[in-house]
Amino acid sequence: MVISDEIMRRTDLLGAHNYHPLAIVIAQAAGVWVEDPEGNRYMDMLSSYSALNHGHRHPKIISALKDQADKVTLTSRAFYNDQLYQFFEQLARLTGKDMFLPMNTGAEAVETAIKAVRRWAYRHKGVPENQAEIIVCTGNFHGRTMTITSFSSEPEYQAGFGPFTPGFVLIPYGDLAALAKAITANTAAFLLEPIQGEAGIVLPPDGFLRQACQLCKNNNVLFVADEIQTGLGRTGKLFACDWEDVSPDMYILGKALGGGVLPISVVAADKSILGLFNPGSHGSTFGGNPLACAVAIAALEVLAEENLVENSLTLGQYFLDKLRQLSNPVIREVRGRGLFIGLELTVPARPYCEQLKNKGLLCKETHKNIIRFAPALTITREEIDWAYTQIQQCFAES
Ligand code: PLP
Repeated sequence: MVISDEIMRRTDLLGAHNYHPLAIVIAQAAGVWVEDPEGNRYMDMLSSYSALNHGHRHPKIISALKDQADKVTLTSRAFYNDQLYQFFEQLARLTGKDMFLPMNTGAEAVETAIKAVRRWAYRHKGVPENQAEIIVCTGNFHGRTMTITSFSSEPEYQAGFGPFTPGFVLIPYGDLAALAKAITANTAAFLLEPIQGEAGIVLPPDGFLRQACQLCKNNNVLFVADEIQTGLGRTGKLFACDWEDVSPDMYILGKALGGGVLPISVVAADKSILGLFNPGSHGSTFGGNPLACAVAIAALEVLAEENLVENSLTLGQYFLDKLRQLSNPVIREVRGRGLFIGLELTVPARPYCEQLKNKGLLCKETHKNIIRFAPALTITREEIDWAYTQIQQCFAES
């Protein structure tokens, strides 16, 4: 244990303590399995907050990374590269949208979406300058930048960080009547996660996405889906919006788009919205770099070639059914879609995550009392059976 202990000690000594990691060092990984420096094996049931939908080091994605690294890695958007248009063409097929703006992290893409809908409100809808409003939901999580932090409903996320960016209106998640009431002539957009991830795998009421989208359409308000965590197969559909056959005005994608290898994010919409950006109005040095694009192209191909969306649907239901058989008074609810599952407890979840780690299963608490299970979409039935046995034993011993 000396090596791991030393690594953790030295990391905590110099690093800001903005995370509370479990006491495990990952030194190697492949598929759903990881290993610490001492050679102990663990199953990864967090998948880097769904950025590892393809599993660790998928061979095709790593091969695309190496091939592209041998050609060109970074051009900036001052010049063209030969990967970006292929990435766009693939996104056009997947999303049905006709314009894309690439960034790196999820939060950057959300910031981009906010700029886009505000400009659309002023230049297209006729909202008076500086008066655009964006409706967001309680329990939202869209990232950690200053503007995004400004509209969080979590006191812990905001404490000590004001003053905040104005222009956001909070409504309860899944409340159609509240949405209808919140819409004004100045509303640019309704921004939401189709299933809230960080809030603890919170599903909106059935029909909400469809009805909310229709309400937005009727009021000339853009319906913006942050599918950074839910997109690309995580919930058993390509996009979580597909559960209600909703085509949002704008998708925001990130995380798994980079195949668990590199950060790449994108805003997807139509020209009537993203066409309002002009040279100088937005950008990113690394956004659209050929290395990340080559990786993303491979990642999107793997999703289709290996039927990962279908696997998520089938095995997600299988896992959910099994977890629902757990009978323990501390389990309040088991919920989810596809391989995006939350186990809500009546007690703090952290000790259970630590116990599961000791049994070789890595997962993480969210919001104190919820355990999130989100394995790679490449997981097999046998691996789920193994995971379930560990979870069952863990609760039996509690
Ligand atoms: N949006 C959603 C729905 C997320 O779950 C996250 C991250 O967890 C983000 C945005 C922020 O992404 P990033 O951490 O890449 O900035």
